[in-house]
Amino acid sequence: VSESTKNLAEIFALRSTESARNEIRALRADKEGRAGEARLFRALANAQHIHAAKALMLLRGRIGTTDDNLASATQEVEETSVSLRGMIKTAATERAAPIESSLVQFMKSSHSHSAKLKGVEKAGEVYHVCQICGFISSDGVPGRCPICRAVPQQFQTVD
Ligand SMILES: [Zn+2]
Repeated sequence: VSESTKNLAEIFALRSTESARNEIRALRADKEGRAGEARLFRALANAQHIHAAKALMLLRGRIGTTDDNLASATQEVEETSVSLRGMIKTAATERAAPIESSLVQFMKSSHSHSAKLKGVEKAGEVYHVCQICGFISSDGVPGRCPICRAVPQQFQTVD
């Protein structure tokens, strides 16, 4: 993979994140009755989304084979889990309980992501994603999410 292709992937990630953050900032500005700033944040989010979409378009055809991508996605999940471990410790130290518990759910649900990436050869598998914690089930919708106890209605099917 060339340096420019890596850069495209990076700008896609950066602009996607900026866009999402500015959407949140717009909501806060709305709450504070600052309509002008809310519009500015929305315009920024919109523009950053365009950059992300363009980067994604340029990336198509430049990314590797599906086998390469499965290996990369697995590596990313594992690297993020390492980062999460540190973030959980920090949240505990700072007594930021809601952040800590969410990060713990992210880490637990990431294990289900790794498992799915390793067992992906089962063609026709249908996935059910918990919309609360991100747990992925391929054994039907569970009675309760094993990680966050969410009810079946909280699962979205990806087929
Ligand atoms: Zn869940």
